[in-house]
Amino acid sequence: MSARDSASPAHLAALIYGDALARFDYGDDHPFKPIRARNTLELCVRYGLLDEPGIVQREPQPVEPAYIERFHDPAYLEVLRRASAGTYDVAMLARGIGTEDCPVLRGLWEFCLLSTGATRACVEAVLDGTARRAFNLVGGFHHAFRDHAEGFCYASDVGAAIEDLLERGLRVAYVDIDAHHGNGVQDAFYGDERVLKISLHESGATLYPFGGAETEVGEGRGYGFNVNVPLLERTDDEVYLEVFERLVPPLLAAFRPDIVVAELGADTHVSDPLTHLRLTSGAYYQVVQRLCALAPRLVGVGGGGYDVFRTARCWTLAWAAMAEREPRDEYAGLVGGMMFGSEIDGLFDRPMPTTGEAKERALAEARRIVEFHHRTVFPRLGATPP
Ligand SMILES: [Zn+2]
Repeated sequence: MSARDSASPAHLAALIYGDALARFDYGDDHPFKPIRARNTLELCVRYGLLDEPGIVQREPQPVEPAYIERFHDPAYLEVLRRASAGTYDVAMLARGIGTEDCPVLRGLWEFCLLSTGATRACVEAVLDGTARRAFNLVGGFHHAFRDHAEGFCYASDVGAAIEDLLERGLRVAYVDIDAHHGNGVQDAFYGDERVLKISLHESGATLYPFGGAETEVGEGRGYGFNVNVPLLERTDDEVYLEVFERLVPPLLAAFRPDIVVAELGADTHVSDPLTHLRLTSGAYYQVVQRLCALAPRLVGVGGGGYDVFRTARCWTLAWAAMAEREPRDEYAGLVGGMMFGSEIDGLFDRPMPTTGEAKERALAEARRIVEFHHRTVFPRLGATPP
C-alpha cells in the first residue's frame, strides 16, 4: 500500500497524548522535562486548538518489545531493561546508560515502550485514514543509536517508526529541525537510499553531538541521501528560513516521499539555555507550516526544547500548523490565575534579528552550505535548485 493511494483522511490532525509520558521524570537537575507535553496540551486548550472539527486526540499504547527490536540491538535492550529496574552496574556505561545525560531511571523501559507506542500511533493514524498529520509530543529521541543511549535518548521511537514504514514498502523522508544534529537516525540509515535524511542544526563546532558536517552525505546506496545543514551560532530567522527554503522543498519534491517523519525540537529558540541559535517562535511556526504543506502525510515528534514554557508555545504553534487552525487566545483579557499568564504574552515573539558581523558570518556560512548541497546531493537526487 502507498500512503498516496489512501482515501482522504477523516481528520487533518491527530494529537497523541499520554499523561503517563508527560509525568515521567528525569530528575530535578536534568534539563529534559517531559512535562512540557502537558504544558503544550494546556496551551492548546487555551488557544482553542482541541475539540474542533478536523482534530482528533488519542491515547498511546505501549508497543510490544518486538517493535523496538526492529531498531535496537537486543543486547542493548537487555541493559536498558536492567537500568529500568533502578539498579546500576558498570557494564551499563559501555551502553551510554548511567551517565549524567542518560541516568539510570526506574520505569525507563515502560517509558520507552510507551513513547515508541505514541510515535507508532502517529504512523497508524496517518496510514489508516484517521488523519493526514499526527503529533507525538514525547518522542523524537534522535540521539539513541541501535546499540547505545546518548543525549537524553534511550530508545529511538523515530528509528523504530522508520523501520516500520520501510517494512510497509514506503519511501520515508526524515526532516530534523532540532538544534542538535540527529546523529542516531543518521547513523542507523546512513547507507539506506529508501530514507532521505535532512537535519538542520547548530554546527558541531559549538554543540553536542559535535558532528553533523555537511560533508557527511551518506555512503554506498545511501550516498546523497543524507543532508546535513550545520548552522553557526546566532543564526537567526532570516538566515534559517532562506536555507530551509533553498534546500528542503526541492529535496522533498525530488525524493517524493510517501510520508515525512519530522523531528520538531524547539531548542533552536533564542531563549533555549543549551543552544546558541536565535530563532523566534514565528520562524519555527513558518517552518512547520511549510513541512505540513510539503508532506503528503506527516508524523511529527517533539524532540528537544529546554526552555519549558517557550517550547510549549512552539509546539502549540506546530499543532496549530498541523491542524490548520489559527490560534486564538480564549482567555485574552482575563487577569490572574493562568499558569502562563506571567510567562508569555501570546504565542509569537517579537522579531530578534542578529546584526553586524555575526549576522554576516552566519549568512555567508549558511549560503556556502546551500551551494555545497546544490553541487553534491542535488544531482544525485535529481533535485533542481530553486
Ligand atoms: Zn536538541
